[in-house]
Amino acid sequence: MIRIILFGEPGAGKGTYSAELVKKYGIPQISTGDMLRAAVKEGSELGKKAYEFMKNGELVPDPMVIEMVHNRFQQADAAHGFILDGFPRTVTQAQSLDQMLQKMKLELSAVIKIEISKETILSRLTGRRVCTNCGSTFNVVTMKPKTEGICDKCGHELIQRPDDQPDTILNRLAVYQKDTAPLIEFYRNKGLLRPIECEGPYNEALARVFGALDKLAKV
Ligand code: AMP
Repeated sequence: MIRIILFGEPGAGKGTYSAELVKKYGIPQISTGDMLRAAVKEGSELGKKAYEFMKNGELVPDPMVIEMVHNRFQQADAAHGFILDGFPRTVTQAQSLDQMLQKMKLELSAVIKIEISKETILSRLTGRRVCTNCGSTFNVVTMKPKTEGICDKCGHELIQRPDDQPDTILNRLAVYQKDTAPLIEFYRNKGLLRPIECEGPYNEALARVFGALDKLAKV
C-alpha cells in the first residue's frame, strides 16, 4: 500500500509527478493547494479567507488546512493509499497528520523528496501556465501546449497563477525555507525521507520516482 508525502519546494514538480502517480498506481492525490484553489473558485467562506493568504504567497493558517485534510481522509478512496501533495507544510501540520494517521491505524510509507536546483525551480514557476478549467499544468519553455495559451486536454484557456508573479514567487520560496524546510529533519528522524534526484530530463526523473514507489508498492 502506498501512502506517501510528495515533498519539495514550490515549483519542484509535485503536481506534475502526482498526476503520473495517480495514473500508474490508481491512488488519489490529496493536494491542499488544489483544494484551496477550488474553494476560492467556488467563493466559499473558506475560499475567501484562504485567498487573503494565498495571493501573497503566505501559508493558509494550520487549523484551516488540517480540517480540510481531516475531512478528505473520510472519503472512501483514501483507504487504499494516497499521495499527499503540498501537505504538510509546517511542523504543526505534520504532527496533526501523525495523529490523524494513528487514529486511522495507518502509517506513512515514505516522504519522497524531489531534489531540484534553484534555477530550475525559478524557471518552472515563472513559465508555468495552468488550465482555467481542468487545472492541467504546462510550461512556456519546458512543457509547451500544442497551441499557445490553450489546454491540450480540454481546450480551455491557460493562465498564469496569481501567485506565480515574481514577487510572490520569492515570498513563497522564503516561506518554504522558514516553515516547511524543517520538515526534512522531522521526517529524516523518523527514517521516512527518500530524496530523489529530479534534475535533468523529465522522463528519467519520472522513472526514478516510479522506481522508488515500485519498491514501496511491494511492501
Ligand atoms: P500549492 O499549489 O501547493 O503551491 O499551494 C498554493 C498555495 O496554497 C500556497 O502558497 C499556500 O498559500 C496555500 N497552501 C497550500 N497547501 C497549504 C498547506 N499545507 N498549508 C498552508 N497553506 C497551503
